[in-house]
Amino acid sequence: MTHVHVIGAGLSGLSAALSLTAAGRTVTVHEAGSAAGGRCRSYFDKELGLRIDNGNHLLLSGNRAARAYIAEVGAENAFETAKRAVFPFMDLKTGERWSVRPNSGRIPWWVLTAGRRVPETRLSDYLGMARIVRIRDDTPVADSMRRGRLYWRLLEPIAVAALNTSSQEGLARLLGAVMRETLLRGGKACRAMLPKEGLSEGLIHPAVATLQGRGAEVRLNSRIADMTIEGGRITALRGPEGVIAVGPDDAVVLAVPPWVAADLLPGLIAPDAFEAILNIHYRYAADPGGPLGKTGFIGLTSGTAEWLFKKPGHVSVTISAANNMVDDAARAIASLVWPNVVDALGLPASAKETLPAYRVVKEKRATFTATARQEVRRPAGRTAHASNLALAGDWTDTGLPATIEGAIRSGRSAADVVLTL
Ligand SMILES: Cc1cc2nc3c(=O)[nH]c(=O)nc-3n(C[C@H](O)[C@H](O)[C@H](O)COP(=O)(O)OP(=O)(O)OC[C@H]3O[C@@H](n4cnc5c(N)ncnc54)[C@H](O)[C@@H]3O)c2cc1C
Repeated sequence: MTHVHVIGAGLSGLSAALSLTAAGRTVTVHEAGSAAGGRCRSYFDKELGLRIDNGNHLLLSGNRAARAYIAEVGAENAFETAKRAVFPFMDLKTGERWSVRPNSGRIPWWVLTAGRRVPETRLSDYLGMARIVRIRDDTPVADSMRRGRLYWRLLEPIAVAALNTSSQEGLARLLGAVMRETLLRGGKACRAMLPKEGLSEGLIHPAVATLQGRGAEVRLNSRIADMTIEGGRITALRGPEGVIAVGPDDAVVLAVPPWVAADLLPGLIAPDAFEAILNIHYRYAADPGGPLGKTGFIGLTSGTAEWLFKKPGHVSVTISAANNMVDDAARAIASLVWPNVVDALGLPASAKETLPAYRVVKEKRATFTATARQEVRRPAGRTAHASNLALAGDWTDTGLPATIEGAIRSGRSAADVVLTL
């Protein structure tokens, strides 16, 4: 292969391009947007007067493909990696606070130590939770273990965040795949990695710079509207400036969201049901000595807000599996959620009266729904649609839910497909 066209500069496209340039291929990345990053990006918000991320993203030290990617683009210093695994929580109804603190090694002695586990839980609950990694069928998360305190105060919040799907529908086996690579490997694989500045500074700009340094071209505002397939091969792409010939030795990596891929490749079976994620950013400088000071985030149960993150000059709430709220007015959402933030930050109740400047970011098709019906629609990277084409994206058959880790792995596998053509 002489020249590889990568369509889409999200994490899957960027990681494919990294592998391909490392293997000496000439690469052009075509990105429809005016910036790279796709569903994982930062931008300046005029309303807040701040740079924000489209959504809070949590990486864990057990996300090995993501860590290798960060190392490859020289961005380790752009992340704050926690020294220890600590997951602070608060119940918004009762006001109780607790922290789950897995010990570093693989032998999980932390489940025997009251101060490290969810209060009023039993060893048998943890054994039940660990059995989830053995589930291979279509059991939903809600039926994967006893629905006691451990379920409501740890598993359910983590499952909704990881799968972006309600626990009644979300597949336990996809959650199990995440747990196998994190919680089951011990606390050393569960340390939070948060971007110091923003997602683009941590994951996107350094990748684009690395690619450019290796001679790749990253074309922005370059939407590919059509692909010509002749004789079982892609022979041309149509971009904003006209037809781009794809030579007999050239290849294409299609790294776009599933609905775009299905448009460009008629007949492709791909996920077709999606869940929204809401992020509500409030201009508020959280006290470094306060509840977000040590870890930078907190999990919230029994309220509307699910996770709260400390960001430069603002605090930011995530609500996953948010299809039922996403069409509500931004002001209504921001006003509903702000009292949860006040409680989580331990501020006086009077602070609930004054809504700070806010921005509600609605990612309507944030991820595919992690259900059995969608799981069978996830295609492999190698495709019969064209012999010089590979598919990438968090929605391909990665064995993981739609995550940064899955997106990066899909890009690496798509590059492997192209390199073996
Ligand atoms: C709000 C939110 C919060 C999230 N939180 C987490 C988290 O905490 N942890 C985690 O691991 N993951 C999280 N995720 C998921 C993660 O962001 C995604 O899995 C990942 O970014 C997907 O990357 P991708 O390359 O597969 O797709 P995308 O990022 O969608 O990239 C596809 C790219 O293709 C471009 N494109 C589309 N059409 C065309 C075309 N015709 N021609 C050229 N280019 C085109 C798009 O503009 C886009 O840049 C979150 C996602 C969202 C939205």
